[in-house]
Amino acid sequence: MNYSDRLNNLPPYLFARLEDRMVEMRKAGVDIINLGIGDPDLQPPDFFIDSLKKHLNDTDAHLYSTSRGNIGVRKGISEWFKGRFGVDLDPGTEVAITIGSKEGLANFSRAVVNPGEKVGVPDPGYPVYGNSASIMNDGIVVSVPILPEEGFLPDLNKFEGCRLVFVNYPNNPTGAIAPDSFYRELADWAENHLETIVVHDTAYSEMTFGNYIAPSILQFTRDAIEFHSLSKTFNATGYRIGFAVGKKEYIDGLVKVKSQIDSGAPLFIQRAAVDSLNTYDGAEPPREILEFRREFSKRRRLVEEKLRKMGYEVYDSPATFYVWFKTGGDEMEFLDKTLSKGVVVTPGRGFGDSGKGFARIAVTVSIERLSEAMNRIEGI
Ligand code: PMP
Repeated sequence: MNYSDRLNNLPPYLFARLEDRMVEMRKAGVDIINLGIGDPDLQPPDFFIDSLKKHLNDTDAHLYSTSRGNIGVRKGISEWFKGRFGVDLDPGTEVAITIGSKEGLANFSRAVVNPGEKVGVPDPGYPVYGNSASIMNDGIVVSVPILPEEGFLPDLNKFEGCRLVFVNYPNNPTGAIAPDSFYRELADWAENHLETIVVHDTAYSEMTFGNYIAPSILQFTRDAIEFHSLSKTFNATGYRIGFAVGKKEYIDGLVKVKSQIDSGAPLFIQRAAVDSLNTYDGAEPPREILEFRREFSKRRRLVEEKLRKMGYEVYDSPATFYVWFKTGGDEMEFLDKTLSKGVVVTPGRGFGDSGKGFARIAVTVSIERLSEAMNRIEGI
């Protein structure tokens, strides 16, 4: 089968061998603890499910939605945004609803990147930036390292000459957050580089712990587009719902692409999303979300402490359900060893070359299973 060059140009799928091995191990009866997937094990809050059920009965629930998203829902998102970030948005022009933020990230790039143009992506980073948003749109990937010694922040000079750049905080896979000073610097940079479009992916903005509250890039500049996701906020990855906010021209570009490719997220899911956002009181999330945060934070601390006791260099973070650490040597060898004990972690190189020597643990299993996994890792 001859696939297109853009498909053939995608890097080899690193996890194929790992997945084969997991299937074999499961067949052999091994009890596998999978810490490789960023998919929350917790249930969505009742208010989300109740709203889905309610809106499934709406008389227009079966109809095509629109690629920009329902206007009532966009108004609700603007209100939430004002309460949460203090930023005014025009629901008519500065908001679009996406079928999960992955879809939006990939499709937006199609609206603005010409073949051969450079796309700046953090390394390590969420693979969608380099693969779907760059290679699959015939763009050229410019990998910009984000390393512990630089606070996991990119050197903005390395984005010079890019048409599009991606930044992502709270960060996957490192869990890192960006200080306000970075956002100020980035805003300044964006306003001085009008040929470059800055995309901020903040899928984990609501998964933060302690006193830390993640900002929106729109608090610092309006010359950007920002992608939000309800996947992690409401433990609702499978429902595929998110939204983009920012400069009108950028949102218009995204909607133009979407209108050629999809017909919008199902209306009942859009409505459940906005009802759920309405449970916030200003910037204050509802009790249910605070409980999710407590649980993920407890799990994070357990993994951070255990790994550190075992002598690994671990990067603590007040956000995300990912723990990033140095494996001490080749992380593929580390993975081989954890696998022999039935524990799956994600090797850092799966997120880019700068991820070599690191691994990511997603704390998406119960505290009991996590403890068990840590005991097994201790024994390798
Ligand atoms: N951005 C980042 C950094 C992510 O980790 C993910 C999901 N793993 C997404 C975006 C996509 O989320 P969704 O499509 O479910 O909204």
